[in-house]
Amino acid sequence: MLNLFDTYERKIRPFTPLTPPQVKLYTCGLTVYDYAHIGNLRSYIFEDILRRVLEFNGHEVLHVMNITDVGHLTDDADAGEDKMEVGTRRAGKSAWEIADIYTAAFKQDLAHLHIHEPHIWCKATDHIAEQIAMIQCIEANGYTYRTSDGIYFDTSRLGDYGHIARLNIEGLQAGSRVAMSEKRNPTDFALWKFSKPDEQRQMEWDSPWGTGFPGWHIECSAMAAKYLGPFFDIHCGGEDHIMVHHPNEIAQTQACHGTRLANFWLHGYFLQLDGLKMSKSSGDFLRLQTILDRGYDPLVYRYFCLGGHYRSKLTFNWQAMDAAAAALQRLRTAVTQWPTPTQPDELFLTDFTNQINDDLNMPRALAVVWNLVKSDLPDDVKKATIVEFDRVLGLGLADWQPEAEQPIPAEILVLAEQRHAARAAKNWAEADALRDQIAAAGYDITDTPNGPELKRRAVHA
Ligand code: AMP
Ligand code: ZN
Repeated sequence: MLNLFDTYERKIRPFTPLTPPQVKLYTCGLTVYDYAHIGNLRSYIFEDILRRVLEFNGHEVLHVMNITDVGHLTDDADAGEDKMEVGTRRAGKSAWEIADIYTAAFKQDLAHLHIHEPHIWCKATDHIAEQIAMIQCIEANGYTYRTSDGIYFDTSRLGDYGHIARLNIEGLQAGSRVAMSEKRNPTDFALWKFSKPDEQRQMEWDSPWGTGFPGWHIECSAMAAKYLGPFFDIHCGGEDHIMVHHPNEIAQTQACHGTRLANFWLHGYFLQLDGLKMSKSSGDFLRLQTILDRGYDPLVYRYFCLGGHYRSKLTFNWQAMDAAAAALQRLRTAVTQWPTPTQPDELFLTDFTNQINDDLNMPRALAVVWNLVKSDLPDDVKKATIVEFDRVLGLGLADWQPEAEQPIPAEILVLAEQRHAARAAKNWAEADALRDQIAAAGYDITDTPNGPELKRRAVHA
């Protein structure tokens, strides 16, 4: 039996699908005004583990993830600027271009980390009509009001607004007389924002209320309902969504459909940098590329994340990455020495299943992995057992080959060939740029009297 901690009920509950064998899963996606940082990626690793555990338990998961490419403001109180517009100023490109660039980079990160892509990707800007229709539904049911800058949700109309966050509404009302501008209640939020008359926005649409753009929260409620229905199994995000984004998603759905959107609400706790919060807006953050540039295999980061429970904060530092690299290397080396798998060991399988089904306890599941490695079971049985475990771990253990035997990928050979041609044509700038590209992919090129030589950079271990 799979048990999961549901933030809505604030307790561990046995999970049963609403419409077996299918499990409908919605995970809040990236705001694509910048690269994903490794904190964001921790949340996506947690959600990937959840999906794999559901599949391990025999469920058929239908997974939807959005891409936020409009409307997420720099401040949760609806006063800031659209993050996408901030991104365009920084990158000197259009909002549409940066959305494409950072979405592609995000998908590359997911592939590097063995995170399964959702079955359905949905972009906020592709679903403006659905968002407008949902706001009209909320309006028709009497939950909206208009201010000079937009259409707002009146949270006082819902008896249990903020239940998931255990918000103290009276305390909030008393404490925030000031920064409310025209909002009637501190927790009210924008459903539609008007474009400012003195400002040319790159992303704006006509609507029944005036030209503008949707508030951030409506996209998830509208797209989740479109692809999964207004009440589905599991909705996930990072812990920051407990206080604002998810209460608002629930409020909108209650006002329009009369449901609380998902049966289970799961939240991944933050990755922090030696105690400091990691945020994109501060500009001070680590990307997966930073980890690759230091010569680590990206799966070292996945292994590092498995070492912390998703409901605890996890602190990142390079010593911990080195320890993860060494452990992963030991595991891989052991597994490659084992012969062809036969039958998995039932006792170990049960032990592992008990840990993952206990609210995704991956640190304890990893301990089972090491007990297996150290056990005196025959190696063919160990191999068969770890292949099963790896359906959840996602570390590619059975496919891994020692460095020297790994062929250099074709695209790297092509880049090296192009660099060779650029050098022959004395086009040094292009040759250097190609070398950088090859280095970024983790390969070093040395020019020898016999021509250029390519080598994969060693993993720190
Ligand atoms: P955003 O791009 O801000 O919409 O965030 C994408 C996802 O990453 C959301 O689920 C956030 O809750 C999550 N997230 C943001 N910062 C962190 C962090 N430091 N650690 C873990 N998850 C995070
Ligand atoms: Zn969302």
